[in-house]
Amino acid sequence: EAYLAAIERFNQAFNAYVAVTPERALEMAGESDRRIAEGEARALEGVPLGIKDLFCTKGIHSQAASHVLDGFKPPYESTVTANLWRDGGVMLGKLNMDEFAMGSSNETSYYGPVVNPWRRRGGNAQLVPGGSSGGSAAAVAAHLCAGATATDTGGSIRQPAAFTGTVGIKPTYGRCSRRGIVAFASSLDQAGPIARTVRDAAIMLRTMASVDPKDTTSADVEVPDYEAAIGESVKGLRIGIPREYRVDGMPEEIEKLWQAGMDWYRAAGAELVEISLPHTKYALPAYYIVAPAEASSNLARYDGVRYGLRVPGDDIVDMYEKTRAAGFGREVKRRVLIGTYVLSAGYYDAYYLRAQKVRTLIKRDFEEAFQAGIDAILTPATPSSAFGIGEKAGGDPVEMYLNDIFTVTVNMAGLPGIAVPAGLDPAGLPLGLQLIGRPFDEATLFRAAQVIE
Ligand code: GLN
Repeated sequence: EAYLAAIERFNQAFNAYVAVTPERALEMAGESDRRIAEGEARALEGVPLGIKDLFCTKGIHSQAASHVLDGFKPPYESTVTANLWRDGGVMLGKLNMDEFAMGSSNETSYYGPVVNPWRRRGGNAQLVPGGSSGGSAAAVAAHLCAGATATDTGGSIRQPAAFTGTVGIKPTYGRCSRRGIVAFASSLDQAGPIARTVRDAAIMLRTMASVDPKDTTSADVEVPDYEAAIGESVKGLRIGIPREYRVDGMPEEIEKLWQAGMDWYRAAGAELVEISLPHTKYALPAYYIVAPAEASSNLARYDGVRYGLRVPGDDIVDMYEKTRAAGFGREVKRRVLIGTYVLSAGYYDAYYLRAQKVRTLIKRDFEEAFQAGIDAILTPATPSSAFGIGEKAGGDPVEMYLNDIFTVTVNMAGLPGIAVPAGLDPAGLPLGLQLIGRPFDEATLFRAAQVIE
């Protein structure tokens, strides 16, 4: 009831929720009350959660923040959300995001931008919460939910977490089932939590993760007790510092924060090792071939026949065209155009195939570092703190894409990465550090993250 009241009072200011489900929330909370009274509490009993609009929730608003999915209410529940309800989580509603998870500022949403609860010291300009999971990050930061689901294709959990002073982890590709999550780029998409503390994120991820016969890319790897890993010392842990992440024009406060992070690990008894990930600079361009290619294929299904919006036309082709023209926003259209182009005969080898080869090289860089005994890699989470609403939107799209420079490599390699709040910039805005781990070794990330937190 307290969370529902807070949403009622403050959601208008932040635009974090696109749908609120009070009846469902109170019914689930009632069941939790009964279980607790009977001494039968489950792992997440009574914990009020927000769900990114990308997750299908049975009979409830699930539109990926797109006009093209107008009125779509899925007939089934995503595996990740089903896992949360199985363990006693309570659904508060659906959270705003960039349309189809394409964006880094939450400004591509059909429902309008999300406002970051943080302001610059002495300023009142409205800032973006990052994206694409901007609603999830803002809702957690503003205490409009205790934790939220999010997804990360190229940084969409970690960048908004860094912009809002929250914790976000993208687990290893395959850790969480993608069943019932609206597909953006299927070989990169992963679900994960955004929460207020490392411990909360650990508890949520344990419930969210599962092998699922309905997602053949989900992995049959035991899910450890992540919370238990948090207390363990980091003494003797080998932390890699990749020299290629020292990009040109990195703001001084980011460089300083990274240095501070290294000092904290040294003081905690970890060993710092300079490493090289030589293909880092190709990750962003390769990502912006692979992701749009997969998106153009995944989004072909929104044709006015099967889901949501239908704009009548003179014949069926005219109906398809009118529906897609009206239903998709600018950024989504840009991705579909790029993706269709790079997959077309004559260009496939030059772009898509080449990007896939680069992807293998990026993956190999990480494998070599881990084979040499590195336990986790420390980098900044983002190249800046939160920027103003409207500051980067509508301009050169590459300017926006550069936000993902430290995060996309992790998706290209399928590795786990966590963003942890690490300090404030001179304007008083949160900054995050990122830890990257071995495949399926999220436990080491939770263990190491406590040093930063
Ligand atoms: N900002 C990146 C993009 O626009 C990543 C988005 C994401 O991780 N979903 O593609």
